[in-house]
Amino acid sequence: MAAAAKDLGLEYIAITDHTRDLAMSHGSDEKQLLEQGEEIRRVNSKLKGIRVLTGAEVNIRKDGTLDVADEALRHLEVVGAAIHSLFGQSRSVATRRVIHAMENPHVDVLFHPTARQLGRREPVDLDMDAVIEAAKRTGTVLEVDGIPDRLDLKDEYVRKAVEAGVPLVIDSDAHHPTHLRYADEFGVAVARRGWARASDVLNTLPAEKLLDRLKDRRRRRGG
Ligand SMILES: [Zn+2]
Repeated sequence: MAAAAKDLGLEYIAITDHTRDLAMSHGSDEKQLLEQGEEIRRVNSKLKGIRVLTGAEVNIRKDGTLDVADEALRHLEVVGAAIHSLFGQSRSVATRRVIHAMENPHVDVLFHPTARQLGRREPVDLDMDAVIEAAKRTGTVLEVDGIPDRLDLKDEYVRKAVEAGVPLVIDSDAHHPTHLRYADEFGVAVARRGWARASDVLNTLPAEKLLDRLKDRRRRRGG
């Protein structure tokens, strides 16, 4: 993945594998995340011109708690949280669930916030104004997921987030090196439809600056 990202001209990528609850996709537990961190350090020491950031895509459980302990998240550079089950909750329950996850000081980004899959699954019924308000209050970054069957946030919500001053990231949700281009091909287009500018998108920053922003935010929130 790192070599492919470098070929695309990227300066860094974050590896955010699924975590424990998603056993079907070999979700990582705390020990595996630590081991992966070691592996990433080895890769970084060998590769030139691309940096790999440690991370995870933790699962948001039914009640908004996460499937990885805070202690393990503390050591990761980019922590995203996302819904992968119970898509039919009522608006108030689902909104509370997502906001509860965003209140965890170790969660940097809410990944594919509405969990829609185009042509297959409706978005979770969320009060997006409340989610964007919570992102503002907690400093949580919202993702524009560029994989073609998600495109989540969609343009309308990008516009609301930008107007609220909530920072975004645009990424590929790549599960294969050939998917890395989705960030540029589709994610950027969706973000532009929502009137986002480069300055609204944290991963337009160099890696060090991005990490400073995330660390700063965690510190302010006691993470
Ligand atoms: Zn996911």
